Amino acid sequence: MESFARRSDSAASSAEFGTSIHFDIFTLFPEMFEGPFSESIIKRARDQGLISLACHNIRDYTTDRHHVCDDTPYGGGGGMVMKPQPIFRAVETVLTRPPGWALPRADAYVNLPPWDGDAAPTPPLDVPVILMTPQGRPLTQSVVEELSGLSRMALICGRYEGVDERVRTQLATDEISLGDYVLSGGELAAMVLVDAVTRLVPGALGFELSAHLDSHSAGLDGLLEGPQYTRPQTFRGEAAPPVLLSGHHGNVERWRREQALLRTLARRPEILEDLPLTEADRAFLCEQGGEMRNEE
Ligand code: SAM
Repeated sequence: MESFARRSDSAASSAEFGTSIHFDIFTLFPEMFEGPFSESIIKRARDQGLISLACHNIRDYTTDRHHVCDDTPYGGGGGMVMKPQPIFRAVETVLTRPPGWALPRADAYVNLPPWDGDAAPTPPLDVPVILMTPQGRPLTQSVVEELSGLSRMALICGRYEGVDERVRTQLATDEISLGDYVLSGGELAAMVLVDAVTRLVPGALGFELSAHLDSHSAGLDGLLEGPQYTRPQTFRGEAAPPVLLSGHHGNVERWRREQALLRTLARRPEILEDLPLTEADRAFLCEQGGEMRNEE
């Protein structure tokens, strides 16, 4: 992944924050993205030019009469497999052009840019091509942080029984899974990836620090975030912890750190094993002894 174009950390291009990421998404169902990508944080990030998105319909890149994108698997078995040619053609056509390029609607099927199915693309692709697959590396916050350093990436959404293996061996440079379960298609996984990466683009969130202090984030050393409260002070007999209303910044910070440690210990103790805990963290956890798992 290191050889791919990365975002500039210093330049000021898109308004005051200066960085942007372009996502090219390859799918058989581009309409699925319209709602999720037109609301809230993603909408605002798009409006501000912090991210841009293009959903490319793989079917547009078919040239046969029925625009077929799938076929029966060699060797038999149930289901259909996505054919390699339309995927290769779509990805190679788009990624050898500047970010933001998309096939004009009227050109679908009938007026495709020339493409040699037997030859490598010219110029070669220099954009990461991520295949969404349950067999990929899990999408963790550290993977999200890694991806947020890229300036452009392509996401391939599979359907049916998945994609022809040549897509994985020759086109994809990375494979990412949302988790150890099987979705009907890669679209929801791609949406989750785009959402998680967008949160980390400077300026995408109203309050800049918040993404870095979320659960699993580097700013919280990978811990789970502790409990949060807002008004009213007391709700159904349960009061917000007085320390949060004390106005004492140092005490609030210490309480938050301790709560994050407790919550992580109670829910995901394995996370603590690999974390660079401070002496104070260790001392606090030791003090808790056997009661630590009963935080709630
Ligand atoms: N037969 C495939 C297998 O066993 O690995 C699963 C195919 S799945 C029904 C169809 C498509 O959904 C996949 O090609 C992939 O793009 C997407 N998909 C399913 N589960 C996923 C997951 N956990 N993470 C990311 N993408 C997933």
